[in-house]
Amino acid sequence: MAEFDVDLFVIGGGSGGVRAARIAAGHGAKVMIAEEYRMGGTCVIRGCVPKKLFVLGSHVHQEIADAAGFGWTIGEVKFDWPTLVANKDKEIARLEAAYTTNVEKSGAEVVKARAEFEGPHTLRLSDGKTVTARHILIATGGAPNHGKPIPGIEHVISSDEAFHLKELPKRVVIQGGGYIALEFAGIFSGYGSDVTVIYRGDNILRGFDEDVRKHVRTELEKRGITIITGCTVEKVDRYGKEFSTHLSNGSSIASELVMFAIGRHPNVANLGLDKAGVAINPANGGIAVDGWSKTSVPHIYGIGDVTHRFNLTPVAIREGHAFADTVFGKRPVQVDYANIPTAVFCQPEVGTVGLTEAEARANFSHVDIYRTDFRPIKATMSGSQSRVLMKLVVDGTTDRVLGCHIVGDCAAETIQALAIAVKMKATKADFDATIALHPTAAEELVTMRTPTARYVRQAAE
Ligand code: FAD
Ligand code: NDP
Repeated sequence: MAEFDVDLFVIGGGSGGVRAARIAAGHGAKVMIAEEYRMGGTCVIRGCVPKKLFVLGSHVHQEIADAAGFGWTIGEVKFDWPTLVANKDKEIARLEAAYTTNVEKSGAEVVKARAEFEGPHTLRLSDGKTVTARHILIATGGAPNHGKPIPGIEHVISSDEAFHLKELPKRVVIQGGGYIALEFAGIFSGYGSDVTVIYRGDNILRGFDEDVRKHVRTELEKRGITIITGCTVEKVDRYGKEFSTHLSNGSSIASELVMFAIGRHPNVANLGLDKAGVAINPANGGIAVDGWSKTSVPHIYGIGDVTHRFNLTPVAIREGHAFADTVFGKRPVQVDYANIPTAVFCQPEVGTVGLTEAEARANFSHVDIYRTDFRPIKATMSGSQSRVLMKLVVDGTTDRVLGCHIVGDCAAETIQALAIAVKMKATKADFDATIALHPTAAEELVTMRTPTARYVRQAAE
C-alpha cells in the first residue's frame, strides 16, 4: 500500500493552485486539489477578469463623449446594469467550468471542499474525509481588509460584493487609494455614478512613480471623480437606501454605496497551520516561505497571495509552475521577481515596469529622466482634455533603462511589450535605435532624445 493517498495535495483552486496541480500532474504526480468556493479563485471569480469586463464596458461612456468631434450624432443612450452583471456572470461561469475541466484533463482530482491541516501530512476536508499527502501546497489566496471596526462598518461593501450589486448606485464613496479603489472609481464613474474617493495619505497610488501619481490624480479629477486626501472614514450611518459617510475632517457625504478597498490579507485563519507546524511571516502575516516557496516544514510549500509577496495573478501562476517543476519535474526553478510589469486599470490606465524615479535615485549615482506629457491625437478631434504621460528612468552610467511609466489609453498593453525590453536590460541607445511607429502615442518612448532631468550624485553624498 502507498505510504500516502496522494503525492500532492493543493489547498485552493485559484490561479496559483490550479497551475501547480496541472503541472505536477503532468510530471506524473498523483494530485488532489481542494476548492471551498469556486474553481478559478479570486482572479477569475471576483478579481481580474470580472473587473476587466466591467472596465471595458465603462469605457463606452468616454467613446460616446468623444464621438461628436468625429461627426457622430448619437441618439438616446441607455445602460442597463443588470444586463452587464448577468452577462459577466455567464462568462465567469464558463471560465469556472473550463478551469475545472482543464485540471481534470491533466489527471488531477478536484474536490469541492474546504481543506484544513489535521497534521503535517494529513488534511481534513469539510465533507468529513481525511487525505494524506507526501507534499502539500498552500495556495489559499487572500481576502479584503475591513479596517478598524468603525460604527456602521456593516453597511460597507468590498470588491467581492461590488460584482453583484442589484443596481448601479447614483453616488458612490470609496475609501482607499490603491489598485481596487481607483479601478472601481473608474468603473462606477464610467457607467454614470458620481464617485468620491477618500484617501488617508497626501496622494493616491503610494509606491508608484511621483509623476504617475500626480498625473493620474489630475486625470481622474478631470473626468469628474472627487478625490479627498488626508482623511479617513470614521462612521457610516444608514437612512433607508442612503448612507451618510462621516470623515475625519468633520465633513460627511451622502451616497447609495460605500465601498472600502483598503488592501487584502492572506487567507491563513483556521487552516490548522499549528497542527502542521507551518510558520507565519511576522512581517506581513502571510505564510513564511523561502526562495523556493518552501515553508518552515520541508514538504509543505506556499505560493500566491497567501504568502503576501507580489499579489498579482501572473506571479501566483509563475510560483505554482516553479514549485511543480522543482518538486515533481526534477527541474529546480526559482521565480525571478525583478521587473514585474503591472497596470492599474483606472481611466486612464497606468502601466509600469521597473524602478520609479525615487527608487533609481536612491540606488544609482547618475539617473537621467526622459519625460513627456502630451495631448493624444484623438483628443485634438474629440475635444477631450485628457493628457498622456510617458516616462523613462535611465541609469546614466550604463545607459540601461531602469523603469518605464505610462498613464494613458493602452498603457497596460504597451507596458507588457516594453517589459521584455526592460527585462532584457535594454539601453536607452537601444530605444533610440528603434524606429518609431507613427502615429501612435507609444512612439514617444523611442523619440525622447534629451533628458528632462539629470541627477548626478557627488562623491561625498
Ligand atoms: P486565489 O486566486 O485567491 O485562490 C485561492 C483559492 O483558495 C480561492 O478560490 C479560495 O476560495 C480557496 N481557498 C481558501 N481557503 C481554502 C481552504 N481552506 N480550502 C479550500 N479552498 C480554499 N491581479 C492581476 O495580476 N491583475 C489584475 O487585474 C488583478 N485584478 C484584481 C482585481 C480585484 C478586485 C482583486 C481582488 C484582485 C485582483 N488581482 C489582480 C489580484 C489577483 O486576483 C490575485 O493576485 C490572484 O488571484 C492570487 O492567486 P492565488 O492563487 O494566490 O489565490
Ligand atoms: P492596495 O494595497 O493597492 O491599496 C490599498 C489602499 O488602501 C492604499 O491606498 C492604502 O493606503 C489604503 N489603506 C490601507 N489600510 C487602510 C486603512 N486602515 N484605512 C484607510 N486606508 C487604508 O490594495 P487594494 O485593496 O487596492 O488591492 C489589493 C491588492 O490586489 C493590490 O495590492 C494588488 O496586489 C492586487 N490587485 C491588482 C490589480 C491589478 O493588477 N490591476 C487590481 C486589483 C488588485 P496607503 O497607500 O497609505 O497604505
